[in-house]
Amino acid sequence: KEAVSKNFIELMIDKDLEEGVYDHVQTRFPPEPNGYLHIGHAKSILLNYGLAQKYGGKFNLRFDDTNPTKEKTEFVESIKEDIKWLGVNWEDRLFFASDYFEQMYECALKLIRKGKAFVCDLSAEEIREYRGTLTEPGKESPYRNRSVEENLELFENMKNGMYGDGEKVLRAKIDMASPNINMRDPVIYRVARMTHHNTGDKWCIYPMYDFAHPIEDALEHITHSICTLEFEDHRPLYDWVVRECEFENPPRQIEFAKLYLTNVVTGKRYIRKLVEDGIVDGWDDPRLVSLTALRRRGFTPESLKMFMELCGVSKANSSVDYAMLEYCIREDLKLKRARMMAVLNPVKLIIDNYPEGEVEYLEADNNTENPELGRRKIPFAKELYIEREDFMEEPPRKYFRMFPGNEVRLMNAYFVTCTGCVKDEAGNVTEVHATYDPASRGGNSPDGRKVKGTIHWVAVPTAVKAEVRLYENIVDEEKGKLNEDGTLNLNPNSLQVLEECYLEPELAKAMPYDSFQFVRNGYFCVDCKDSSPERQIWNRIVSLKSSFKL
Ligand code: ATP
Ligand code: MG
Ligand code: MG
Repeated sequence: KEAVSKNFIELMIDKDLEEGVYDHVQTRFPPEPNGYLHIGHAKSILLNYGLAQKYGGKFNLRFDDTNPTKEKTEFVESIKEDIKWLGVNWEDRLFFASDYFEQMYECALKLIRKGKAFVCDLSAEEIREYRGTLTEPGKESPYRNRSVEENLELFENMKNGMYGDGEKVLRAKIDMASPNINMRDPVIYRVARMTHHNTGDKWCIYPMYDFAHPIEDALEHITHSICTLEFEDHRPLYDWVVRECEFENPPRQIEFAKLYLTNVVTGKRYIRKLVEDGIVDGWDDPRLVSLTALRRRGFTPESLKMFMELCGVSKANSSVDYAMLEYCIREDLKLKRARMMAVLNPVKLIIDNYPEGEVEYLEADNNTENPELGRRKIPFAKELYIEREDFMEEPPRKYFRMFPGNEVRLMNAYFVTCTGCVKDEAGNVTEVHATYDPASRGGNSPDGRKVKGTIHWVAVPTAVKAEVRLYENIVDEEKGKLNEDGTLNLNPNSLQVLEECYLEPELAKAMPYDSFQFVRNGYFCVDCKDSSPERQIWNRIVSLKSSFKL
């Protein structure tokens, strides 16, 4: 019965353990330090870490830094921080693939000695031509039958810097007629005069990914090497490498489908352009789905875990709706966060029969569904801010909020009856007026009379002024993610800045990343980049309503 809820990777691991292929589970996450982690990486991290935990195994964090062209040390720290934030603990199991260059070199020598690798003088272009196509077998390199001694000498010369970049490569000798093009004598080492961030100028030959990766896994005694679907037809080569290099108990590669999200921009090329064009304010812009962006927006590690569990692990590519991610953060914050009052688009409400200059403190539950969050005091005064949309001089039917003659509840406070409004010359409402019923303190009338509308408010004398940023999806896939010219079809309303919002004074204490529900308006968090004690800036994480149903 339990097996039903297991994903296909867990079933494979169960079988391996049952059959004694492995007696433990060891997984890894192998990022290339060449950029920021995004939500897709989080899926891989949580999957690998989750499996290690489930099976009482170990999890390695390994920087896959064998390609000196693209890697930068600066990303190592940001990647570590993101992974820590997700709640993943690699303990002392932090590795760098470049620390294995010596062993990889030894593996190459071993293959040469076994007659399984050869030095090839064909140019990159010739190698491509010789490789053949899906329907046509490849052609063997004229250098394929060099003797072991000659290959050893030439490879040594490659290592010692006797050849220019691209002049010679080391290739695995497998099968030029294989239906799998990856098996047609793939290049496993190349000459590249580049300074490596870890090994400096020690090496001028570097291993190719398909050769290096299985060796890294094998050296770390990884049992299940989990990667994404595009590596499926590299698996025979993976198996060939660990077999021919004669690793005991070699790892097994298992592929799963990448996570794709709709209505967000993930391609590095596009994000770079958005940054350059000033449309987003960096890789951590709250509309993006890099992990730093999601954290800045106010997503929690728990919400991402819930999301990954809902997505499941699959063998087929598909796209998940961003709305499902929003569902998860709402679910996570619902009982954990206090529900505060904040007015985003203010107009003044004046209670004409309330004493001038008085401030009284009313008490309210922080979260009516979770008493553990306690209660707080909220100041009330003659002058309040309410949402502009909560007053209408001439209301349509079924409008139950403020309009002349109507009685509503001020949340946690009093019943008030609207008496009218004041307008400027242009006809804009500048003040709404009302009278209150002192007997309805706390929000209920002693005579049991009911009101249909409840609105939130913030007392003017103690209000905290803040900026609030509202977000929408940066693209709308239903309308087409790309324009005809290949540029992104951007949503012009993806960012809306509200510069004059008023919050309860309690929120003055909020620190970067702190999040709250603002009643009726959604969940919000203090922006970690632009907010300051003098001027608070809040990001809307998500609104309260959604069309998304599980
Ligand atoms: P990107 O090009 O988006 O940065 P990548 O594959 O080049 O992705 P790596 O640093 O090589 O980035 O990835 C580290 C690990 O994360 C790999 O095992 C890779 O399979 C996994 N990964 C990357 N993108 C996704 C995704 N969208 N869904 C699930 N796993 C992913
Ligand atoms: Mg990669
Ligand atoms: Mg990458």
